[in-house]
Parts: sequence; C-alpha cells; structure tokens
Amino acid sequence: MAKKLPGAHRAGDSYMPGSGNEGYGVDSYELSLRYRVATNRLAGTAVITATATENLAKITLDLSRLQVSKVKLVGFRNVRFSQTANKLIVTPSEPIAAGTSFELTVEYAGAPVPRPSRWGPVGWEELEDGVLVAAQPTGAPSWFPCNDDVADKATYSIQVSAEQAYAVVCNGLLVDHRVVAGRGQWHYVQDEPTATYLATLQIGRYERTPVMFADVPGVLAYPVALKARVLADFAPLSAMMTLFEKHFGPYPFGSYTIVVTADDLEIPLESQALATFGANHADGRGGAERLIAHELAHQWFGNSVGLATWSDIWLNEGFACYAEWLWSEGNGGASADTLARRFHRGLRAQPEDIIIGDPGPALMFDDRVYKRGALTLHALRLTLGDQGFFELLRTWTAHNRFGTATTADFRALAATFSLKPLDSLFGSWLFAGAVPSLP
Ligand SMILES: [Zn+2]
Repeated sequence: MAKKLPGAHRAGDSYMPGSGNEGYGVDSYELSLRYRVATNRLAGTAVITATATENLAKITLDLSRLQVSKVKLVGFRNVRFSQTANKLIVTPSEPIAAGTSFELTVEYAGAPVPRPSRWGPVGWEELEDGVLVAAQPTGAPSWFPCNDDVADKATYSIQVSAEQAYAVVCNGLLVDHRVVAGRGQWHYVQDEPTATYLATLQIGRYERTPVMFADVPGVLAYPVALKARVLADFAPLSAMMTLFEKHFGPYPFGSYTIVVTADDLEIPLESQALATFGANHADGRGGAERLIAHELAHQWFGNSVGLATWSDIWLNEGFACYAEWLWSEGNGGASADTLARRFHRGLRAQPEDIIIGDPGPALMFDDRVYKRGALTLHALRLTLGDQGFFELLRTWTAHNRFGTATTADFRALAATFSLKPLDSLFGSWLFAGAVPSLP
C-alpha cells in the first residue's frame, strides 16, 4: 500500500526547488472556502492534520500570494506565524515531537492568481465566467496552504460556497449540496490519498449530468450550450473504461468526473478522479478521443500510482501515451505496434539528446518523454509477450495502489516477469540518448 512519508529530511523534490517542506507528512486537508466569482475573492479555512517525522521547531507550508489572518495549533497556546512570498512559517511555543500528529488550522484570504513557473502559469485561473485549478506541477499553493511535495499524499474534504448560478466541482464524491441565502454550498470528499497537484476546484455555469462509465459512476459537467457535443464526444468513455480495467485492473476511485469549460484550453488536464477539457476539445466529432483516453489512463498511472519524484515523470506520461495506443488498437484503429513504429521513426528524426528516465525539469513535459516512454512499454511488451506484459501492468497498479513508486520499483517488478535480464532494455530506452531499435 501507501509508502507514505516523503522521508524525514526530504524538503521537496529536486525538480521543484522551493516547493515542499521537511519534517512532516500530511494525512488530511479539510478546506472550507467561500468564493465570489464576480470579484475573485476567496476566504478559506484549512484544517491540516499531519504527522511530524522529526522534532519540529517550526512548520513550513507552501502558500502563494494569499494573506493569512489566523493560525491555530491544537494543544499549543502560543503559536506565531509569518509569511514570505511562497511560504507560511508556523512556530509553536515548543517543538512538536517526532512521530506525533498535529492539527493546524489556517485562516486566509485574498484574490488568488496563477503561480508563475518555468512551464507557464499554474494553479488557480480565472475563466471568462468561472474558475479552474490546473496545478501540475507547483500550482496547489495558489489556493490552499499545503506541503506541495509530489510524494506527500493526503485525503481531502473540500467545502465551497459560491454564487448560486454556478456549479462547483471538486475531486471525489459530492456528499452535500444545498442553496442557502442565494449561495450554493458544495461539499466534496476524496478519501483516497491524493497528491497536492491533483487536487482541484472548478467553478462555472455548468449542467451536471450523472452517467455510468461502464461500472464506474461518473458526472459530466459542461455549459448547456455544449451539451450535444459533450454527450457525443465523451460517449466512448464507457468502452475505454472497460478496456482499461481489463488491461490495468479495476478503476482506482469511486467515481470519475469530466469538466468541460466554456473557454478553450490549450491542453486537457488530469486531476484526482476528474479531468478537465476545454470547449475546443468537444468538437462533436470525436476530435479529442485520444486525449480522453490519455486523461482516463492517468487515474491509474500518476493518480493512484503516484510519483515518488518528478524525475520519474515517464511513469505518468509514457503510460498514459501508451494507453492512447491501446485504445486505438482495442477500438479497431491502428494497432499499438503500427503506432509505435510510426512514432519510433518520428523520434529518430528529432535530436536524440533526452534522457527520459531523468529528463530534468526543463524537459519533463517534452513530447519525447511521452512518446519514448510509450515506446519503452511497447519494447517491454514485445519482450514479455502480451500475457506477461498486461499481468505486469495489473500487478503494478495493484501493488502501488494509492501509493508512490519509482522507476527502480517498476524495473524490479518487471524483472520478475522476465526469464532474461531487462537491464539493457531499460538502460537503453530510459537512460541513453540514442533511440534504440524496437525488438
Ligand atoms: Zn498526461
């Protein structure tokens, strides 16, 4: 199960300097948010339950551009706090002992804005008429105080109130919705451990339609003007769910929510048990089918089986890209082998100078990580045979369900499915520049 804590002395991830904090791991976030779309004004209370992994003289959290007014720490009388541009530092009257749990309450407010990053603005984003949060990889502190470390997963309870005309959509299950004094109150619960970058909040004038994606209950949320296009374009999700459950094992979460915004979006994005698409991805002609398969596959690869470190990003994107090819193959399109050979030629036409097993932060979202990652899996499939390969994938998702894992973990598990050593396969595909030949 969950190989939880990032480690006593880990202060974030080497790809994300300045994000993440040392000395504790978060168990749960309980967020109560009050928001006005008209003015982009957010006021929130975050109750963070965490466990100290060392004696903690101070607790540091990530929080960007939002003003903290009050901090409480259960059991401690005198608690001081201060803020820098991206950190909240809480100093209790005496250290918190290693191994003990603590409950920290933070009251904060402000006008949230996206957080700048080397990959562009991330996190909270105002739409034409609403909000989305696309936090990958460092945007979570734009809307709540957190330990923004990819390896530190926690459960979430998110309560939001906003003007009644809007629907609020968050991760997980909607457990309560009511209208009080002209404001909608929404309460979502995500009980499965979730990385901060996969927590999300979406607000828009959305119609919410309950659906079944095969055996998984789901919701489609979309502007009513896009209804026909959304219902047509997302219809294949049931068949995708069936195919992926066959190949990857049971869908990890209790539900799956699709949000289609009224705005066009450059790319869709996965969140925990949810994915967000732009109006441009619902063209009514299935133009985004490949991307719909890709985002669904992230629920297994990236969301349930999480990254222990961003340097292993191919474990998310290579697998999600290969799932696109599996969907094509399973749905009567080009076979994964045909697609693999096409993209192999494409990769050889580009500079062979990326190490996808550790691409560095500047190249972590480079398309070659996606395609070469998928090709790595195809080479492995050709080596192990279909039976062994898919059994490996199902064992991988079962062993690491809701936890985090590394490339070394995957190599070690794959080795148990192979009669011959796989060192040169993984070494040449993941840790060398030149593109190897396919088996
Ligand atoms: Zn992806």
